[in-house]
Formats: sequence, C-alpha cells, structure tokens
Amino acid sequence: MQYPHVDLRLPDWMDEFVEKYRATDFSTDEAMMRFAIALGAENVKQGTGGPFGAAIFVLDPSDGKTKLLAPGVNRVVPDHNSEAHAETMAQGVGQQMTDSYSLLQAGLQKVTLVTSCEPCAKCMGSIEWAGINRVVIGATKDHAESIGFNEGNKPPNWREYLRNTLKIDLREGVCVDEVAAVFEEYKRKDGIIYNGDGMGLPRPKIRLETNGSLISRVVPVADTAVLAQSAANTK
Ligand SMILES: [Zn+2]
Repeated sequence: MQYPHVDLRLPDWMDEFVEKYRATDFSTDEAMMRFAIALGAENVKQGTGGPFGAAIFVLDPSDGKTKLLAPGVNRVVPDHNSEAHAETMAQGVGQQMTDSYSLLQAGLQKVTLVTSCEPCAKCMGSIEWAGINRVVIGATKDHAESIGFNEGNKPPNWREYLRNTLKIDLREGVCVDEVAAVFEEYKRKDGIIYNGDGMGLPRPKIRLETNGSLISRVVPVADTAVLAQSAANTK
C-alpha cells in the first residue's frame, strides 16, 4: 500500500503566460492586481480551474523594484484538492522557490500577496503562516458568493487582526469591476461551483477495495443502468 503524493500544480500555460510580463512595471497596486485578474481570466479561458488569480510580489533590493515571485490560480477541480485556491497556490509556489515554509523567514522583503478576490476563511488562515507583509484585495467575498461560491466564515474582526495583531498591511477594492467581469464569464461558461457539499450534484457510484480495516483504493463504478441503456442503443 502506497498513498499518493499530494501535488498542487500550476497549469501548463503558466510559464509562457508569465513571460509576457517580463517588462511590466509592477510598482502600483493596480498593476499587480491586473496581473492577478489576468491569471484568473486565462484560467477561465483555458478551462483549467476557477476564476480566481493571485500572486506574490517582493522587493528586489538590487534595484528597488517590485517583482513577481510566484503566480497562482485556482486549481481545486483539476488537482482534486480543496486547498488549491489561488492564494494557496501562489504562496506554495513561492515557498518551494525559496525552500522555506515562510516567505519572510526565507529572507524576502516587502512580501505582498495580491488576490483578485477577498481571501476565504481557509486562505485567511493560511496567510498568517505564509510570511507576508501586505495583502492587496480586488473583489469582495460577496462577489464570489453572488455566483454561487461559499467563502466560509471569517471572524468579523479579520481586518483588524491582520493589521493590528499580525502587522500585515491591507488594501481592498482594487479593480473590482475587472474582477467581476471574470466571474461573470466563468458563470456564463457554466464553470463548476466546487463547494464541499457538491451543490446537490449527482455523486458517482464507487466501490472500496479494502485490506481488513484499511481502504487501499476508491474505484469508480460504471453505472450499470447507463451501460445497459447505451448497449441497447447501439443494437
Ligand atoms: Zn481561499
């Protein structure tokens, strides 16, 4: 019995996509946010995940400029992982690049997380341990919930907690209309709303392969009624 590795992977188009931004001036919040929004839009266009984009930017002390460290897009459905929100992806990619669990601990300066939508309850928690100085947010959770996503239950004082307790600077409401347009496009394309309850969608039939009390495999089972029907149709 060997359990699978848990992999979070950026989509195949990412490397080429990011290359287009090699000469971009990321000195403003709007410039950084437009990059995060473009990531979400490309994810929708390519059908490689949810409509959310995020990125980690840091200071390059050698020239004083803000530079992209790590991009992130939502990969919940393709990576089979409810953790794979855009913020988690960007933080994780940055941490892999620095061989560190914390971006600040790794020695980076002015670490900014830019996210096209307000962090959900899960991502709000992860920000605390990622090693971040600043968070820049586009749309609110109400925008995400208006197309069906469940954003969870953050403490009502989350803004004060970020600013006063964690000493993380916060700016909200950057390029909101541009984020909303990406959400609308996702909805128009009938993108999957992947809340944990499955939104009442039909659940596949499965069979458990076991070794005593241990489950060794979860195997999808073809629906025999559907198979019989399709066999009848081909006669
Ligand atoms: Zn999240």
